[in-house]
Amino acid sequence: MTAAGPLAAVTTEDPLPALRVMRETGAVDLPAAEAAVTALLRALGRDPASPHLAETPRRVARSYAELLTGRQFDLTTFPNDEGYDELVIARDIPLQSLCEHHLLPFSGVAHIGYLPGARILGLSKLARVLELFARDLQVQERLTQQVADWLQEHLAPRGVGVVVEAEHLCMSLRGVRAAGSRTVTSALHGLLRDDARSRAEFFALTGTT
Ligand code: ZN
Repeated sequence: MTAAGPLAAVTTEDPLPALRVMRETGAVDLPAAEAAVTALLRALGRDPASPHLAETPRRVARSYAELLTGRQFDLTTFPNDEGYDELVIARDIPLQSLCEHHLLPFSGVAHIGYLPGARILGLSKLARVLELFARDLQVQERLTQQVADWLQEHLAPRGVGVVVEAEHLCMSLRGVRAAGSRTVTSALHGLLRDDARSRAEFFALTGTT
């Protein structure tokens, strides 16, 4: 199992060429966004010409641009030479996203796990996959599903599980004002969906049983 193969085999098979990962979205037009924020301030009965608000349209436009722009990254996977067949879980990955209904942030943590198949990936990449989909206008359910689907498609593991726990400012600041209440969503594929023991182990390890 641990015996090193011929070096030639290693250099040709490990790792696979990195996959450049990015999401196609419409470009952000910063000047147009600034003008729109100025118009919004006026529509809200505020005076955009006030010295206190002079920089606000620029700041708001840049904030939204940042929150809506995913960073591309290179996904490199490695052969699972050791035959590791237990769950790999990254817990408490910080999450920030924007609710598509109110353009207000929701934030929390994600727990992402998989049962390795033929290939494994660096744990930091799980956070990058999450960020790729989080920097968008989102609903939590879709974000959770997209991360699970993406990993299933690109890593082909024996199972994938994603749990997202987030507080939505649109809930805690207005309406029912459920401050501090967290919404929990999950998406499962493969053995983590179909095998009761694997699923129970995943939820126990993520602390979300
Ligand atoms: Zn909302």
